[in-house]
Amino acid sequence: MKENIIRVREEMAMHAAKSNREPEQVTLIAVSKKMPLEALEEAYGYGIRDFGENHVKELLQKQAHLPKDIRWHMIGHLQRNKVKQILPHAHMIHSIDSINLSDVVEHEAGKLGKNIECLLEINVAKEESKYGFLPEDIPHIIDRFSRYKRLKIVGLMTVAPFVDNPEDNREVFRKLKQLSVDIQGKNVDNMNMKFLSMGMSNDFGIAVEEGANMIRVGTSIFGHREY
Ligand SMILES: *Cc1c(COP(=O)(O)O)cnc(C)c1O
Repeated sequence: MKENIIRVREEMAMHAAKSNREPEQVTLIAVSKKMPLEALEEAYGYGIRDFGENHVKELLQKQAHLPKDIRWHMIGHLQRNKVKQILPHAHMIHSIDSINLSDVVEHEAGKLGKNIECLLEINVAKEESKYGFLPEDIPHIIDRFSRYKRLKIVGLMTVAPFVDNPEDNREVFRKLKQLSVDIQGKNVDNMNMKFLSMGMSNDFGIAVEEGANMIRVGTSIFGHREY
């Protein structure tokens, strides 16, 4: 695993340089779903402090056993009835994929008295099987987010299609970046486009070139998951 992490960091740095950025400007999130505690402990030992999980229960169980300085990222589809459970434990929610969900997050965060940073998940490639807002829906719903007091929209996230050639996703990443620039240009209260969470094991290099500053990498760090 040590070599894996070194390799991912090197590749990240190489692609960051191509887009004239420092590697420190890109956060590597180790996606540890389905991996045992020992694997997370090992990654922690090699300096990983950001972990991504896609199930609430699994995130809470792992968090209880691991050091407190880890930032936990909720990256999977979040059910409304799980919001209350996850809120005290998540550093960031990457997967705000409906107004119904964001309303519940705002409401529960208000009850807790906690501000929570969130990303809007965008289904850039318009895949039927994927969650997320369609890019063209965003201008019509932006006002809703600007009224929130506790939920802070701090960027966008996408899960790009599964492709053999990562170059095929360059256009998807470019579109997400452009959408974030468009939103930033509207100067909406309570929204800033600080983060762009895009790129996974297969295509994070291309994503970084196109402006990603959070990449979510599972397989290239931990190896293949068993289902
Ligand atoms: C599983 C997952 C990843 C990581 O995928 P890998 O191909 O293993 O790197 C990234 N983002 C999300 C939302 C995921 O569910």
